[in-house]
Amino acid sequence: MSEAPEIPIVDGATRLYGIIGDPIAQVGSPRLYTAHFRAASRNAIMVPLHVLPDPFEATVRGLKALANLHGLVITVPYKARIVPFVDRLRPMGEKVGAINVMRRDSDGGWTGDMFDGYGLVRAVRAAGHALEGRRVLLIGAGGVGSAIAVALAEAGTGAITVHDLEPTRATALAERLARVVPGYHVTTGAPVAEDHNMIVNASPVGMAAGDGLPAPLGRVDPAALAVDVVVKSEPTAFLRHARSFGCPVVDGYAMMAAQIDAGIAFLDGRT
Ligand code: NAD
Repeated sequence: MSEAPEIPIVDGATRLYGIIGDPIAQVGSPRLYTAHFRAASRNAIMVPLHVLPDPFEATVRGLKALANLHGLVITVPYKARIVPFVDRLRPMGEKVGAINVMRRDSDGGWTGDMFDGYGLVRAVRAAGHALEGRRVLLIGAGGVGSAIAVALAEAGTGAITVHDLEPTRATALAERLARVVPGYHVTTGAPVAEDHNMIVNASPVGMAAGDGLPAPLGRVDPAALAVDVVVKSEPTAFLRHARSFGCPVVDGYAMMAAQIDAGIAFLDGRT
């Protein structure tokens, strides 16, 4: 019986992928993506790249000039700011106005796409929950909130109420959603959990130790599904609050894990 060839951790032929963000130490993608590459016996690695806001443009131009860098994952706060650096934008990136993955194509150009919303929809369905007709309360209208709003509207949910600490962000997302998913029922408003049967925390509240709820949610319908984008090994205060009413929950780790296959297929140019 022949043994499978050993994959080096890294050598000169390693396909290089990076994740850019600020801060960067908290990201899980290098571990997750690299584990997937190794499980598929591929000589590829994803590394964390701490890109500062200044000089952002020069740094991104430099990264794109590296001949053995094949793709980038993009995290906070650059998902919208990176868009002008791709030559082609796939439809979801166009609708959201932000991307979380970009790849170098065989012609040398770069294509960007957004999988955060897809990851949430896939994680929810994989956990056995339907989305059709749901009345959604979305807390947080930033990069990930925008991606989730578009994906949930396209996945058959009935309506979304958008709430953000900065009301102008909630309004901007509601206007974008009305434009890119015509006829969909979207409003902005206070985070009243009881009026909804799906609540999504798309704010960063829960990342820091000692964080409480993103909003004073009050009573939650036990039939409501609670989803938190925050990736933590322990349940966040938001998920604990929902569980205390008997609600089913889906956490940020499930959402992140659910988009890795699609992210790798995209980086490979298979989608
Ligand atoms: P962002 O800074 O673009 O947006 C965050 C938004 O939340 C802002 O509009 C801000 O005003 C709002 N906000 C902050 N506190 C709030 C509160 N208490 N109530 C209401 N709104 C509030 O950040 P982002 O890129 O959207 O990322 C948000 C979180 O999502 C981060 O914690 C990030 O790690 C996580 N994330 C998870 C996944 C995953 O796959 N699980 C993917 C992407 C991002």
